[in-house]
Amino acid sequence: MFCKNCGKEIDDNASVCIHCGVATGKTQPATNEINVMAIVGFVLSFFTAIIGLICSIIGYKNSKDPRYNGNGRSLAIAGIIISCVATALYFIIIIAVISGAACFASSVGTYY
Ligand SMILES: [Zn+2]
Repeated sequence: MFCKNCGKEIDDNASVCIHCGVATGKTQPATNEINVMAIVGFVLSFFTAIIGLICSIIGYKNSKDPRYNGNGRSLAIAGIIISCVATALYFIIIIAVISGAACFASSVGTYY
């Protein structure tokens, strides 16, 4: 690209012109840090939904930070969805087990 001030050619990623020292208006490129919390939240969402959900939410918030440059955002969203589905499944299984046990108990009762 070319400097807006002096018109000389400068590096595309330069934030300051090397010829005249005027800022190019281009912000420093965001660093690409790995969003560990999003990965942890995603993995944990399969095992411990509540902790996975908390980590995924933190990971999602972290992904908005310029340091992460959006890294792990989709992973964090996936972690949040999986955590919610897993929590719903736990409740369904618990209700099924309780109602199944109650049904079994009542059927046993009628045989005796
Ligand atoms: Zn310049």
